[in-house]
Amino acid sequence: MKNASNLMNMLWPSCERVSLTVSNGLERDLSHAERASVGLHMLVCPGCRAFRRQVRALREAFRLLRSRSATRDKLAGAFLPALLRERIESALSERMRESG
Ligand SMILES: [Zn+2]
Repeated sequence: MKNASNLMNMLWPSCERVSLTVSNGLERDLSHAERASVGLHMLVCPGCRAFRRQVRALREAFRLLRSRSATRDKLAGAFLPALLRERIESALSERMRESG
C-alpha cells in the first residue's frame, strides 16, 4: 500500500509539495522525477503556475542584484588604486577616532 501511495504522491502531488519542490529548485537541480511530477501538476494548476512565475521573477531579480554589486565592486577597485584607498581608509578611521 505504501508503494501505491508513494506513486500517487509522485503522479499527483499536493500544491504544497509542488511549491516546496519549486522552491528547492532554486538551490539545487531537480531530479527527473521531480521535474516530471511538477511539470504534470503545472499543466492543470494555475495557482502553482503563478507561484512558479513569481519564484522565477524573484530569482532573476536576485541574479541581477548580485551581478550589479559585483560590477560595482570591480569598478571601485579599478578607479581607486589600492594605495589611495588605504590612505583614505586610514584617514577616515583616524578622523573617527578623533571625533569618537
Ligand atoms: Zn497546485
